Amino acid sequence: MINQRIKIKALLSEEATGREVTVMGWVRTFRNNQFISLNDGSTNTNLQIVAELGQFDESLLKKITTGAALKVKGMVVPSIGKGQKIELKATELEVLGECPADEYPLQPKKHSLEFLREIAHLRFRTNTFGAVFRVRHALAYAIHKFFHEKGFIYIHTPIITASDAEGAGEMFRVTTLPLEHLPRDENGNIDYRQDFFGRSTNLTVSGQLEAELAATAFSEVYTFGPTFRAENSNTTRHLAEFWMIEPEMAFYDLEDNMLLAEEFIQYIIRFAMEHTAEDLAFLAQRLAEEEKQLPQDKRSEMSLTEKLEFVVNNRFERVTYTDAIEILKESAPNKKKKFQFPVTGWGMDLQSEHERYLVEKHFRKPVIIYNYPGAIKAFYMRQNDDGKTVAAMDILVPGIGEIVGGSQREERPEKLLERMRSMNIPEKELWWYLDIRRFGSVPHSGFGLGFERLVQFVTGMNNIRDVIPFPRTPGNAEF
Ligand code: ATP
Ligand code: MN
Repeated sequence: MINQRIKIKALLSEEATGREVTVMGWVRTFRNNQFISLNDGSTNTNLQIVAELGQFDESLLKKITTGAALKVKGMVVPSIGKGQKIELKATELEVLGECPADEYPLQPKKHSLEFLREIAHLRFRTNTFGAVFRVRHALAYAIHKFFHEKGFIYIHTPIITASDAEGAGEMFRVTTLPLEHLPRDENGNIDYRQDFFGRSTNLTVSGQLEAELAATAFSEVYTFGPTFRAENSNTTRHLAEFWMIEPEMAFYDLEDNMLLAEEFIQYIIRFAMEHTAEDLAFLAQRLAEEEKQLPQDKRSEMSLTEKLEFVVNNRFERVTYTDAIEILKESAPNKKKKFQFPVTGWGMDLQSEHERYLVEKHFRKPVIIYNYPGAIKAFYMRQNDDGKTVAAMDILVPGIGEIVGGSQREERPEKLLERMRSMNIPEKELWWYLDIRRFGSVPHSGFGLGFERLVQFVTGMNNIRDVIPFPRTPGNAEF
């Protein structure tokens, strides 16, 4: 058995001197042939290890290079150096894995995020990515905790789906048909009857439709899983593979839905603030330094910490789509023709520049926009009595834009059918979805939260590629 170590996080928080411990980790730096700073991923803070001069073989010390894996036994002593209360006075040093200094791409200096993306297999070992992925973990844990405490049931919805009706985005096809000679039917079309599932299948773009089925039995459910969209949009907020949280609740109207989403977002951010305070402080500092490079007007008015505190302590603004259009029409950038997409009027889809104006300039806080025109929203959203709008809501946050999309679902079978027909949604394929409206249909609602967008918001990372370990984007599936 090898695992008799203490994690550096525990050691640093106990601060108990005068005892012997074993630690293991990777060398961040080795100074003056004497001071090793060691990191094991449990915390951003490195442990200082002192290898007293003359105590160890030169040949051993030569192998202690940045990146090398070490096992160290030693005595915990008070530190005289600044920045740490304790250090480890080494009595035994063992190099578990050498790391040739001239080949190791991670040097103890500042690397650009772009460069680190190219060595994503190693970037976990940097301070920034260590912090980002510990925060990501805390958020994921808090999500399950929140729903569990409320009595929601976690449902695993399928990753391979046959329905291509949802229309949330372009899909990736799943097939075992030979691409070199595709089987054809009588009409010359590809014959998916010969495919693995006997029909054409795709990777899921959302687990919502299946979650709705479960909600009509358990009343409150959620999904948390990967979703896939073959959207060829190379933005800082879109991935081809991302994780989504989709709660679905029976006996909730749009108002209940908004309240839950707000409470949920505040809860998980608060959890991360309490449990990853050190990492968030580091990330706030990182962001502040990055923003120093920007012109004054491009910098955030609030620090990351202030922004998160603001979000957990203030109600989100609620505004109807109709009012939002009025605000945008009258806005300075629209009047000065500064928007790339001019605000043409009621019925238009909001572009991200419009959303960002509302959130960052007009309201300066998270905003819930609701009651959108039916024509620009999905078929399953509940029709409002005005005959024009549907009970949809999007939540927008500063710096990111849309983080949540949700709605009250259409529970009335005639209304749903009518809307499906007018939008050319194949009702035959969705027989099971329609069944739910025939057998004990109830008002119900739900929303989808893009997990990486949330992690971006909380960590202050600008690019969505830097909050998922191995990003999948157009032209990129390395690792
Ligand atoms: P957007 O307009 O930003 O493309 P959307 O309207 O396509 O978003 P929905 O279909 O409502 O988004 O999906 C729910 C949530 O999933 C969004 O609010 C967002 O947080 C997240 N999301 C959507 N597409 C992506 C993507 N390609 N990469 C990462 N997250 C995404
Ligand atoms: Mn989209």
